Amino acid sequence: STPGGQKLREDKILVTVRLRPLNKREQSSKDQIAWECIDDNSIVYKPSPLERGTQPTAFTFDKVFGPDCSTESVYEDGVKNVALSALMGINATIFAYGQTSSGKTYTMKGIKEKAVTDIYMHIVNNPERNFRVKISGLEIYNENVRDLLNSESGRNLKLLDDPERGTLVEKLVEETANDDQHLRHLIGVCDAQRQVGETALNDTSSRSHQIIRLTIESTLRESSDHVRSYVAILNFVDLAGSERASQTNAEGVRLREGCHINLSLMTLTTVIRKLSVGKRSGHIPYRDSKLTRILQHSLGGNARTAIICTLSPASSHVEQSRNTLLFATRAK
Ligand code: ADP
Ligand code: MG
Repeated sequence: STPGGQKLREDKILVTVRLRPLNKREQSSKDQIAWECIDDNSIVYKPSPLERGTQPTAFTFDKVFGPDCSTESVYEDGVKNVALSALMGINATIFAYGQTSSGKTYTMKGIKEKAVTDIYMHIVNNPERNFRVKISGLEIYNENVRDLLNSESGRNLKLLDDPERGTLVEKLVEETANDDQHLRHLIGVCDAQRQVGETALNDTSSRSHQIIRLTIESTLRESSDHVRSYVAILNFVDLAGSERASQTNAEGVRLREGCHINLSLMTLTTVIRKLSVGKRSGHIPYRDSKLTRILQHSLGGNARTAIICTLSPASSHVEQSRNTLLFATRAK
């Protein structure tokens, strides 16, 4: 079943939006709530009294989650089916997309938590199969790739092309999880490593992408038949702040900040837009950035993709929120 009971095209990207509550800083600066979820599928801009006459515009998605929705419901109604398809041998990727401080990391943390619970529930409920779950974690900062499970390996790992498995990250550590607790621990190590980078280099999390990659293999016990084995990748991707893909900033700002535009994020938005148009959209520029090269084989084709777009409700962030919703609209 799919959210809202709609029939999803197999190759369709599932696009959901999560509107977070106003935070303390926004509350104390008397920021207004600029967006309202009017039903399960639509979000509208609420014009302020000063903008009387402005028509509210509704944006519609597979699912919209308001400020009172729990991460659990974002998982259950948003991404669960996509994530669990990796247990059946179908590659899957879950993205969090949104401006800095809109709730990407908060949401992904909860999503990973719930997915791990479900994966091991499935493993327990399917004793006829032998499962193996492996994990790796990496961060892309300024088009440099760093291993989140091995801080010794430097900040600029090479990408290698493997004829069968696609793009591989050289020397990336992959650990086999013994059980759900071990897997949670390893995810925690990756999350903590990203935090370490954040204090060393100012503001990295707004500029960096984190990929937690699970590889889930299973074979039927007492069977050597190849067809009965599954192997699939499940990626959890916490993207750089979407303001890094914004083209609306003044030239001056862009120049001062040097690398304001994030190549991987720009390329990803192009790739996703082309994938959403469908198979006949011509050349898809996977090779133009590290992020899209690494994700190429788990995007498009047989893979399933879900994007959670996170939104600040504050009127001071309306322009960025609009950009996020435009991206989300193009991804549908
Ligand atoms: P991002 O990763 O997009 O920069 P974070 O996930 O770090 O943003 O969220 C920014 C702040 O807002 C954090 O303190 C986080 O705990 C809080 N927050 C985000 N989403 C929610 C939510 N849905 N409910 C409550 N607090 C949230
Ligand atoms: Mg974050």
